[in-house]
Amino acid sequence: MKLYEVAVAAPLPGPLTYSHVESLPIGIRVLVPLGNRLLVGTVLAELSTETCASFSGEIKPIAECLDQEPLFPPALIPFFRWMADYYHHPLGETIRTALPSGLFSVQGSRSAAAKAKTEIVVRLCSPSPDQPAVKLKQSEQKTLDLFFQHCSGSPVLPRQVLTKLYPGASKALRGLAEAGLVSLEERQVLRDPFGDMLPFFDRPQTLTKEQETVVAELCRAVDADTFQPFLLHGVTGSGKTEVYLRVTEHCLKQKKNVLILVPELALASQLEAHFHSRFGSKLAVLHSGLAVGERFDQWQRVLHGGAKVVVGARSAIFAPFATLGLLIVDEEHEPAYKQDDGLRYNGRDMAVLRARFASCPVLLGSATPSVTSFYHTQQGRYKLLTMSKRIDGQLLPKVELVDLSKEKRPKQDWFFSERLTTALRDNLAQGLQSLLFVNRRGYASFMLCQDCRAVIRCRNCRVSLTLHRGSGRLICHYCGYSLKPELVCPECGSSSVSGLGIGSERVEAEARRLFPEARVARLDSDTAGKRRDYLALLQQVRDQQIDILVGTQMVAKGLHFPKMTLVGVVWADSGLALPDCKAAERSFQLLAQVTGRAGRGEHPGRVIIQTHQPQHYVIEAARDHAYEKMSSLEMELRQALGYPPFGRLINIRFSGPNESQVEETAQLAAELLHTALEQNKLEVEILGPAPAPLSLLRNRFRWQLLLKGKRIDQLHQLCELLLREKKRLCRANVRMGIDVDPENMM
Ligand code: ADP
Ligand code: ZN
Ligand code: ZN
Repeated sequence: MKLYEVAVAAPLPGPLTYSHVESLPIGIRVLVPLGNRLLVGTVLAELSTETCASFSGEIKPIAECLDQEPLFPPALIPFFRWMADYYHHPLGETIRTALPSGLFSVQGSRSAAAKAKTEIVVRLCSPSPDQPAVKLKQSEQKTLDLFFQHCSGSPVLPRQVLTKLYPGASKALRGLAEAGLVSLEERQVLRDPFGDMLPFFDRPQTLTKEQETVVAELCRAVDADTFQPFLLHGVTGSGKTEVYLRVTEHCLKQKKNVLILVPELALASQLEAHFHSRFGSKLAVLHSGLAVGERFDQWQRVLHGGAKVVVGARSAIFAPFATLGLLIVDEEHEPAYKQDDGLRYNGRDMAVLRARFASCPVLLGSATPSVTSFYHTQQGRYKLLTMSKRIDGQLLPKVELVDLSKEKRPKQDWFFSERLTTALRDNLAQGLQSLLFVNRRGYASFMLCQDCRAVIRCRNCRVSLTLHRGSGRLICHYCGYSLKPELVCPECGSSSVSGLGIGSERVEAEARRLFPEARVARLDSDTAGKRRDYLALLQQVRDQQIDILVGTQMVAKGLHFPKMTLVGVVWADSGLALPDCKAAERSFQLLAQVTGRAGRGEHPGRVIIQTHQPQHYVIEAARDHAYEKMSSLEMELRQALGYPPFGRLINIRFSGPNESQVEETAQLAAELLHTALEQNKLEVEILGPAPAPLSLLRNRFRWQLLLKGKRIDQLHQLCELLLREKKRLCRANVRMGIDVDPENMM
């Protein structure tokens, strides 16, 4: 009898111990009894005989083993344990988040989704000389003829090919198999997530001087096999992707694995296409856009060594490589690296941690690094690498500001200033392409009653509804609740309710009206529902079948269109006023990214930023491409307030259907924390409790408590106290969520 430590996928503080008669591999799933239920868990360790001897209580046996082989390499277990501790999330749930979905429900754990997919193939058998010749039926002869027509010389062919061409083939093949002429075999097929849609990119012959220096330094770090973090600050169009590709080539030559994270990959990224062009079958992708089965197959290819390079979104940080030679995080400043529910981890931070566990370098890349990462380079914690020139010596585009408050235009048309209209017209006349960026999707961002000035809000969330003309609905962007737009004001009953504020749909409509001869397209999450549509639209832009592309953040990042020479930012101010300590940084990053789309070919680029606050330091820095000016101003502001990177934050959020219960719980928690602060003389500031900026979301009221301090261990100490007291604090449907290093304080 042996004892095993099992992490059960349930909200438990730690792993549990179970027994089993035979010896088990680490990393397989098992069914274990807990109370009167059976739950799925993963085997983490075999306990030593001394530990076994010290057990006195009853130890239940493992009920069933669900896998024969491990689902992840044991090297990942210390990483899982560290994350579970740091983010205050149960270990079993942490592992559930890490593995492909569908593996942890008791019914689903045996289901087909998470199994290898197989197909039947027909194999031609070479007849032995002393075998009597068989008389073939007509159907059998026809099937064989079809086989030879379609096998292109190979002795095997999927059965499906024949049965699709000829329905009688099924029966005929059985006859042929009995006669010993063919055999039918089952073999595994990999579900291919790439399809034929990704564009192909050539490998450039030579590197620029800057690229060469950076690549050489990184290759040396790869050879050293030690942990070392780098921040690559490379302006848009400086060729960061090629740096990633070259260092990856270097790793592969030495049989080292490489993991690349990109912010969002549900649809596809240019980066994925570059890696696919260069590494073909050595590449695996892991992201939420894959079907469950596809994801499982990609996971298996990584686990069994078929894939050496993984490109993936946040969750690819768990890619089951036993060893790693390099981790890369592209667009490291992106808030999308932070998961907003469940295990609230930051993929960028975890990449640095995983590199530490794997003793390898980690490369964070961005044109607009996060203020925190940039601060780390100043403190000597990360090594700074810089690429300040664009490929082929193109200049960064010229950026002009248009002060919207000085525009003398009819009120409803303010979002196409004189200057922007003229520039668009000129570009169109020269056969060049333009990009119009808006921060919001939909037609109008809110509906206002003309009589009582009430804003129409979602029934479940205290947020304004957005008008979508395409679907003819008013939609809540948080919960999806929708209404018909022909409504009367719920406050005063007036029927003169109209849309205000702009979204991408409105800009698209206006662009079509102003430039009827132009070919206008829109790219946002409403139009780019499917990967195929998205890739097709990008191809159209690349082929210059589109003159004006209107879009949201989706168009701001990573796209490279040489004929796109004009970028118009329709309204730059929308993100500046958000109640979040990173609002300014985010606005700058977005402006710099979208600005970087202009003039990436032989024609110089021009950017027009429309704003009501032309003197704001973020807008001025965006005009001057002055990243360092923006970041040093931000650092000053944050240092004064003790915000990251000068202090650490943990946000505690309480939510529930009854507002007074939520508030009461938050107050109780705050009292508990204040007492602990005084008793232990901790240097922690407790802000709140206060209602969250989104104070009602999906019918749940939300309050929060922000912990701020220089020492993360003291903040963790307070979280542990709250978790120990959770049962007493959170009665009556009130939930408590702990968000370490929050990115989103709404
Ligand atoms: P970034 O990611 O830094 O914004 P990209 O990686 O998109 O820049 O590079 C801009 C363009 O330059 C891409 O089309 C890329 O293929 C091309 N490029 C990169 N490196 C080279 C090189 N050494 N020689 C020629 N073209 C290059
Ligand atoms: Zn009204
Ligand atoms: Zn809502």
